[in-house]
Amino acid sequence: MKTYLSRRKFIKAGASFFVVFNTRQSLSIITVDGTIPASRMGTTLIHEHFLVDFIGADKINSTRWNRDEVVKKVLPFLLEVKKHGVKTILDCTPAFLGRDVLLQKRLSEESGLQILTNTGYYGAIGNKYLPHWAFTETSGQIAKRWINEFKNGIEDTSVKPGFIKIGVDPEHLTELHQKIVKAAALTHLQTGLTICSHTGLAIPAFEEIELLQKAKVHPSAFVWTHAQNEQDKMLPVKAAKLGAWISLDGIGWGNLEKYADTISNLRSAGMLNKTLISHDAGWYKPGEKEGGNFTGYTNIFTLLIPLLNKKGFTDADIKQLLIKNPAEAFSIRVRKV
Ligand SMILES: [Zn+2]
Repeated sequence: MKTYLSRRKFIKAGASFFVVFNTRQSLSIITVDGTIPASRMGTTLIHEHFLVDFIGADKINSTRWNRDEVVKKVLPFLLEVKKHGVKTILDCTPAFLGRDVLLQKRLSEESGLQILTNTGYYGAIGNKYLPHWAFTETSGQIAKRWINEFKNGIEDTSVKPGFIKIGVDPEHLTELHQKIVKAAALTHLQTGLTICSHTGLAIPAFEEIELLQKAKVHPSAFVWTHAQNEQDKMLPVKAAKLGAWISLDGIGWGNLEKYADTISNLRSAGMLNKTLISHDAGWYKPGEKEGGNFTGYTNIFTLLIPLLNKKGFTDADIKQLLIKNPAEAFSIRVRKV
């Protein structure tokens, strides 16, 4: 039996389809060169580093490295990963650990890769990388600084952050770390930037999700970074079911069989569409001869994907992990409870 929509209903249905379609189409991400449609992100590595300086927030400044030297060291690794089809990299080095937007801009120009930088503070590793004002200011005051970077650019540049990067220690959240998470929630509500939090274990991860929910931020705005550290493999599934993103991001270093198992487990639970993968590799180390040892960003392509294929992963699954999920996770939009 055929049914016909009335002309009015047809126009209405068409209009709402157009609105939905158009909203999806107009989703965007912010690179160091400005805003682009999320559909142009392509194959994306969501957690890598170009440079990290562990000297501490009280001593760090960009005169500790020479940009020409860093570019010389890092660029070949970027050109290498480009050959595997990578179009976009998120540089997860936070402020006070060596975030350098002028370096990121140069690496983007010289490699042709789209690069995203971040705003936020890293409380993990016992607060050594927090600026002194983070200890005394309120979450609102801290958020104001991050929102200012989003509105006006980072330091003296017009470069804007494409996501929020924070870090907490792998135990119950301290008051200080709760404040950092609340600042991230406030910043998300004003900017629509996704929150990546160096977290590791499930205890702080679920506390963060709860705090965000109390602040009216939906878990889908939260990336549980270094979720591979949690040994109970059902807890990432539980967080994914709440809507959080599960970031398995140490593929530059870890036991690849274990990564393949964890990703398979998420797939079996129907949560592949909440799974993000990356290497957490790199990086130039100021103070070491020629920046020290550097780990490249190719294990996913040369080692992990063949393992996943053996476990029955299809090309569509790999695209889900490397293209669809990053675009969905990092598109700028406010996600409220
Ligand atoms: Zn990292």
